Amino acid sequence: MLSTLKSYFGYNSFRPQQEEIINHLLNKKDALVLMPTGGGKSICYQIPALMLDGTAIVVSPLISLMKDQVESLQANGIAAVALNSNNTDSENQSIRYDCRMGKIKLLYISPERLILETNALLRDMKISLFAIDEAHCISQWGHDFRPEYTQLGQIRKLFPNIPIVALTATADKTTREDILNQLNLNNPKIFISSFNRPNLSLDVKRGFNEKEKINTIIRFIDDHPRDSGIIYCMTRKATEKVAMKLRKEGIIAGVYHAGLSALERNKIQEDFIKDRIAIICATVAFGMGIDKSNVRWVIHYNLPKSIENFYQEIGRAGRDGLPSDTLLFYSLEDIITLSQFANESGQQSLNIDKLRLMQNYAESHVCRRRILLNYFGENSNCHCGNCDVCKKPPQQFDGTIIVQKAISAIMRTNEKIGVSCTIDILRGTYSTDVVQHQYDKLKTFGAGRDITGRDWRNYMLQMLQMGYYEINYLEDKHIKITPLGKLVLFGKAKANLVVIQKEDSTSKKDKKKNKINSVATHINIPSSLSKEDEILFEKLRELRKKLADEQGYPAYIILSDKILHILATIKPKTIDEFGTINGIGDFKKDKYGATFVALILRHESQ
Ligand code: ADP
Ligand code: ZN
Repeated sequence: MLSTLKSYFGYNSFRPQQEEIINHLLNKKDALVLMPTGGGKSICYQIPALMLDGTAIVVSPLISLMKDQVESLQANGIAAVALNSNNTDSENQSIRYDCRMGKIKLLYISPERLILETNALLRDMKISLFAIDEAHCISQWGHDFRPEYTQLGQIRKLFPNIPIVALTATADKTTREDILNQLNLNNPKIFISSFNRPNLSLDVKRGFNEKEKINTIIRFIDDHPRDSGIIYCMTRKATEKVAMKLRKEGIIAGVYHAGLSALERNKIQEDFIKDRIAIICATVAFGMGIDKSNVRWVIHYNLPKSIENFYQEIGRAGRDGLPSDTLLFYSLEDIITLSQFANESGQQSLNIDKLRLMQNYAESHVCRRRILLNYFGENSNCHCGNCDVCKKPPQQFDGTIIVQKAISAIMRTNEKIGVSCTIDILRGTYSTDVVQHQYDKLKTFGAGRDITGRDWRNYMLQMLQMGYYEINYLEDKHIKITPLGKLVLFGKAKANLVVIQKEDSTSKKDKKKNKINSVATHINIPSSLSKEDEILFEKLRELRKKLADEQGYPAYIILSDKILHILATIKPKTIDEFGTINGIGDFKKDKYGATFVALILRHESQ
């Protein structure tokens, strides 16, 4: 097993669980594998596929996913193919022939085609195992339900002696049980890995308005030059708006949402995967097909509707295990819109609960990773050191007077205003609403002038979270003060607020250094590069892009970002030394060793 891993994939050791799963499959037993994105699920069936006689059949829901997998396998010199409608008839013909002749180790196929082929191609070939990737697609409870997946339940009966492994990154318990039931797996063993992704930093910004969000994003991108990243927005309109604002600053960003034609979407996705466009502003429609391993950051321009969605989306960063950053903006407007969606949805109370848990994450005063892990059933009291709460624990202060001012302003309007009007009154702003209703005559008009609008939005959000008021969605989103809020107003209870952290003023350079060092203590990755190494890194990156373009592959398929970092740090001088690097198998050593070593030698002699 280890020598197969080493010679084909160039890795020196297995990750937790991989070895057990592989052994289990080699013993022809069924399994369900739950591992987070980037955890290394593919190796679990690819190694048995290489070791067993015959061909492994891999079911995958999307052509783009199949393509990515097949290309990375082929780039390692492994006989893998995909049978799908993207191929020409003659291509599919020759794939069928090769399968019958036993020349293929892994055959990727869609669920509907697999069912069609059970009585045709599959009968004429020797099958080593079935791997059902993205197995949560079988469940209506999951977030990517695909009716075609439900037919896969037949395989167990049709091929009683061939092991089946189902794999997913969705940890949800209902979904898990549904997968097991529907696939009729035979006494399956369930392998659950930790869902922790220590290489993803977590950061939340509360109460920013649009302008502040855009400015923050621009600074963020400035801190991540040339890196690939995704900005998730709630609406199609927002994706276009954010992309336009960035463009005004000279930052090129693509747009992706379900309103575009399939052709346009494919093009954008392809541009992103092939590093022709570094940044995509997208709705949640941009997702499952993205197996790109070097996405370095994910920003949520709006609050997602649940922790599952959030985790899935940030999970698209850092699949290669290198440090990657995530940033979530959290505003009152989002809460209002999402609550309304939830209220109008078919499963009102379920969706409200999910949103509330998402809010709790955003408002957390303890390590954010702890909230995420607890959500996924991993009881943890970690202090990760890689989230904003761990880095800068929030301080509380007695905010009773602030809360009283806000509640008093609302009460004086007979609870007939929403959040923005409340802030206008407190700040003494003559907005249309204020003037029209003569709120400028209220005693509280201007009572909160000393606090900026941004800070008021932040405090209002905290007050909502603490249950001092509710929003009445049936009455034009007017604020209704709760009994708890009234206790504070009448001085019967104190209200603690969290100090709003000002943007830190550390220079870009220091920040970068801090970031890399703090993460490096948690996981085993190369620490920051010296100046000279950065130049070499860029040269390596260029060479990789050139080789990738020549072959029509995405760059990360040739060599991962992680390998480029290692190359820039240890600077191998011989092909053999090149081949010892973790992640470079025999095939890549022979194919690329000479070219990369030559570049390194040239760089060193300059
Ligand atoms: P996922 O679980 O999301 O399908 P992948 O199978 O794509 O994850 O693996 C994520 C990354 O981890 C890939 O780049 C893969 O090559 C790498 N990887 C998997 N197993 C190992 C291992 N034992 N050692 C080092 N890297 C590994
Ligand atoms: Zn933390």
